[in-house]
Amino acid sequence: MIGTQYSRSHKGYEGARLDRIFNRRRPEKYPSDIIFAASPDDVVSAVLYAKGKGAQVTIRSGGHSWAAWSLRQDSILIDLSELKRLEIDAENMTATVSPSTTGKMLNEALGPLGLMFNGGHCPDVGVGGFLLQGGQGWCARTWGWSAEQIESMEVVTAAGELVTASRRENADLLWAARGSGPGFFGVVVSFTLKLKKVVGMYGSTYIYDTVAHYDEVAKWYLETCPGVPSDCELVMLGFRSERVMPHLNPPRPVLVVRALCFTEDEAEAKEALTIFAKGVPSLDKAHVAAFCQPSTFTEEYQRQADDNPIGRYFVQNAWLDGPLDKVAQSMKAAFVDLATPQSFALHFSMAPLRALPDDMCFSIQTPHTLSLYTIAPPDTDAFDAVCQAYQDKVWTHIDALRPEQGGSAGIYLGDSDLVKRPVRFMSEQNWARFCELRTQWDPKRTFAGYDGEALHGSRWNRNPWELVD
Ligand SMILES: Cc1cc2nc3c(=O)[nH]c(=O)nc-3n(C[C@H](O)[C@H](O)[C@H](O)COP(=O)(O)OP(=O)(O)OC[C@H]3O[C@@H](n4cnc5c(N)ncnc54)[C@H](O)[C@@H]3O)c2cc1C
Repeated sequence: MIGTQYSRSHKGYEGARLDRIFNRRRPEKYPSDIIFAASPDDVVSAVLYAKGKGAQVTIRSGGHSWAAWSLRQDSILIDLSELKRLEIDAENMTATVSPSTTGKMLNEALGPLGLMFNGGHCPDVGVGGFLLQGGQGWCARTWGWSAEQIESMEVVTAAGELVTASRRENADLLWAARGSGPGFFGVVVSFTLKLKKVVGMYGSTYIYDTVAHYDEVAKWYLETCPGVPSDCELVMLGFRSERVMPHLNPPRPVLVVRALCFTEDEAEAKEALTIFAKGVPSLDKAHVAAFCQPSTFTEEYQRQADDNPIGRYFVQNAWLDGPLDKVAQSMKAAFVDLATPQSFALHFSMAPLRALPDDMCFSIQTPHTLSLYTIAPPDTDAFDAVCQAYQDKVWTHIDALRPEQGGSAGIYLGDSDLVKRPVRFMSEQNWARFCELRTQWDPKRTFAGYDGEALHGSRWNRNPWELVD
């Protein structure tokens, strides 16, 4: 058994290549075969088939990588959408899931049992790609990286063997899986994840004009974040008003600052959200000031789906660092203009920064994630140049700054395109260990790995300012 297979001459090939890719801007890259594996045995057979053909393997779980990492020229693409597993051990608070399981599917199954998993914000992101790159899930600021919740995984290796990776067995494979993202050298066929007890949620939202009030809103938001109690997720978003306040005339960029507090206890939420609101710029200037509103996962997933409409996406990010006034200034350009009405910018606070555990290769983070999503309508490439130019303008400025100047310490793989911008995503030490393990587990490079690694040579995994030192 190998699963359902589409070769390039098959009439279903183009649908198999593209239908499961979220981003409507798809690369002109054509795998030689696409195999829909329905079981771990199918995956083993598909890996051995690829080796027999001398082709490299790529993998697709949820199809939500912005740069469509699953598509590589002449690869054998193993699509895991038909491999389905969702088993819950409520007593031990764990779930074992197949990689194409989405965060929403998992939380819908867990909710009635009083349990949850802090998976990705978008309802349809697959846990496969999400967990391998680290996973900036719900309340990552204090609950940590979602990959920290992996108890064990089953992996099909380059040798075509099904092995378990956990802290006790093949611990180096688990280390490499937690943070290497699309560079991982195996096919994960299941994850066993630690769960949390489900909690209620309450959110506060403030909306201001960006051009008039960016400086004071960003100052307040960045200064307030480190002191906000744990169990609160804190974000500042830059939208065009057409998206979130369509009645504003004339349309303009707006800043949406939101704190989402995860607790059952309304009084506790009020206390935390009062601390968050301390020093908030005058509410007379705000279009919206909504304090401590109850919310649910259903509403939050819907909000995320609305924030990420179907379109042609250009996405990049950076881990900013340095004094808060410098961080506010370096990221200002990402918020004040926005390339198209659909585009948006996101600051996701990780302050105060938690230390990372040392048993994962994920190794770059700062208190500030800045992501920029320039989005063009789905059916025309007429706006692609505008979207790309806006990205280039923002990142050329930021990448030239050192972390102590409000510049970038590197990127989070989740919102990256390494072909376009191959900046640092792993520490030097962890990259060296990762490469050793890759040689050990996949000596012939059966897995295609990072798109861009060969292309960028000595620029790979380096910040531009490191290259001028
Ligand atoms: C709308 C939207 C919202 C998002 N929100 C968040 C968010 O809140 N937090 C966050 O951290 N990220 C977020 N992301 C980024 C997303 O998590 C990553 O793009 C992730 O890679 C998507 O995983 P996937 O399985 O859906 O993607 P895929 O495109 O299927 O997988 C990406 C790559 O990961 C590797 N991979 C996937 N599965 C396996 C496997 N089973 N074994 C080995 N390698 C595998 C492969 O190299 C594959 O090509 C979002 C993306 C979108 C489009």
